[in-house]
Amino acid sequence: MSELVEHLAELTGFRDRDVLDVTLAGAFRDLLHPRTVAIYRVVGDGGNQRWLTRARLDEGDAVATADPVWVDLDSLPLLRDHPARVEALTGQTVVTKTGEGEEGLSVFPLATDREVVGVLELITDGALHPEAQRMVCSILRIYRNFQGLLDYSERDTLTGLLNRKTFDESFLKISSTIPVAGSAHDARRAAGPGSRYWLGMIDIDHFKSVNDTYGHLIGDEVLLLLSRLMRSSFRFHDRLYRFGGEEFVVLMRCENEVDAQRAFERLRTNTMAYQFPQVGHITVSIGFSELKAGDSPSSAIERADKAVYWVKTHGRNQVQSHADLVARGELDSSEKIGDVELF
Ligand code: GH3
Ligand code: MG
Ligand code: MG
Repeated sequence: MSELVEHLAELTGFRDRDVLDVTLAGAFRDLLHPRTVAIYRVVGDGGNQRWLTRARLDEGDAVATADPVWVDLDSLPLLRDHPARVEALTGQTVVTKTGEGEEGLSVFPLATDREVVGVLELITDGALHPEAQRMVCSILRIYRNFQGLLDYSERDTLTGLLNRKTFDESFLKISSTIPVAGSAHDARRAAGPGSRYWLGMIDIDHFKSVNDTYGHLIGDEVLLLLSRLMRSSFRFHDRLYRFGGEEFVVLMRCENEVDAQRAFERLRTNTMAYQFPQVGHITVSIGFSELKAGDSPSSAIERADKAVYWVKTHGRNQVQSHADLVARGELDSSEKIGDVELF
């Protein structure tokens, strides 16, 4: 019993979700000694939903393994490749099976208040005892409540996107991995794809008139629907924020500027094509900039913001890269922090 309480205390002591899932897997390993314990999340959408391994411990593993945060979606196993997991997920019920060699498979659905998001899978010697199964369900309820509290503090209540409060932490985590240009590390980076990061700022065009014409509630619905368009326009690991009002930010990993531009264009054209109930069509102005080594959140935001401002004063409904505008002489490259001109 005290071991269980210890694990619960440890579980609720973290606010980083990556650590939380690893801790949960570790707790079940210590309590139940399974052959394997793993947490899988569903990622992707439409016909391309896949299993992302959040934490997995096999017998004898000292540390848990997990898929990298920015993993390529298409390299992950398809949902249908694991029917027991799909059954647990869609039925929202515990699925148990006994396989060859008396191996017991138990799959538990993992849900948040909004949706079922994944499964916990245990492979044990023989079927899992009903009492152990009840204990797993109880711990998962605590895990779910705790995730709900985290969501409440990290997510915007209207759209469910991340809120501004969590932006700086994620930004600094990412920017600390960006090598300084010209360093030896940078040469290696050039050889490996996919390690550049981009910040995009999205502002709805003439949104005030949407509110003025249709009222705030309809305005809010537009914000909610736009957040859905954002989710479907970007990849599952891109981080989407509502920065307040009708301004949104995306932090994404992308190999080059052309692909980054393409991703933002996808959102712009998806938005333009979407029929918003009552309101009809709206457009968005988007500015983006690459994250640089040593960037502060405010300097990166400022660059994207300047690009948005340029779009607002040049017809709206476009995507512009800050670097491109500077290269074309449309913007100067000076960066101000407070009143200090840096260069
Ligand atoms: P622009 O194309 O220049 O961006 O024009 P705009 O009308 O969108 O101008 P601006 O970005 O300055 O206006 C923001 C408006 O967004 C003001 C306010 O009416 C509306 N707004 C801000 N937050 C919310 C919100 O939470 N809900 C709703 N419904 N409206 C909001
Ligand atoms: Mg605005
Ligand atoms: Mg606006």
